[in-house]
Amino acid sequence: YAIGNMLEGSLGALPENIRKYLEMLNEDCRRLMGTVNDILDMGKIEAKKLFLSKVRIPFARMVRRTSESLRIQAEAKGLQMSIAAPEGIAFVDCDPQKMERVIINIVANAIKYTPEGGRIDIRVTTDPAKPGMVNLQVEDTGIGIPAEYLHLVTERYFRVGDQASGSGLGLSIAKELVQLHGGQVELSSPPPGKTGGTLASVVLPIAESPRILVVDDEPFVLDALERQLRQHGYTVVLAHDGDEAIAQATAQPPDVMV
Ligand code: ATP
Ligand code: MG
Repeated sequence: YAIGNMLEGSLGALPENIRKYLEMLNEDCRRLMGTVNDILDMGKIEAKKLFLSKVRIPFARMVRRTSESLRIQAEAKGLQMSIAAPEGIAFVDCDPQKMERVIINIVANAIKYTPEGGRIDIRVTTDPAKPGMVNLQVEDTGIGIPAEYLHLVTERYFRVGDQASGSGLGLSIAKELVQLHGGQVELSSPPPGKTGGTLASVVLPIAESPRILVVDDEPFVLDALERQLRQHGYTVVLAHDGDEAIAQATAQPPDVMV
């Protein structure tokens, strides 16, 4: 917090060189906090005391925001990063803090294990071969994972050779958290059809989209709201007046009413 306050100007304007160091310190603190949280979660999972507080969230938006927070880190390393996560593709029931950890751990790996000049492509997709599931794919053009280690890297503390620093916990905690959400982490290296790099996928069960009852006596307003909400993946029910709204809400109570 102290560093954040200084960066926000609590001690007045900072010389550029000091500002840069503070930003690096801030980044290091955040990374360290992440590792500490991973270790704490590990202990809780072991003791079967990790409880998820789940909410229904638009998954693509979470992926986009969380990945964007790592863009500076990727670009500082000369990596290109693309994010294709269409709004409204799927809702997921998840513990937002835990799911953010999963996304950060996997994207951070792609950044860490891809040398300068490489690319990271992040996608949220659905696959007809896996009905009812949504897929987060993080593909990099990095050093790859040797075939004989693919099944080991999701084990605690396992690391391939002596690479850039790390504790070897990121993927194992991601795997455990995703399994607690009823999903799977899958790795392929190289990604299908490629000659190098790694593809990490998180496959999660899709939750029913929230129902929104929109009430307005102005058809134009109904139409505009309906279109916008549907685009974001919501199930929309319309009512043109109060009586209709009461009938709709009684027949099947909506999650939200506008
Ligand atoms: P941290 O706990 O800080 O995440 P870590 O990155 O070493 O440390 P994991 O995220 O669990 O640990 O990854 C385990 C090992 O798998 C890594 O040490 C690395 O050897 C390999 N690995 C993971 N992701 C990739 C990737 N995208 N490309 C190449 N190797 C990877
Ligand atoms: Mg890692």
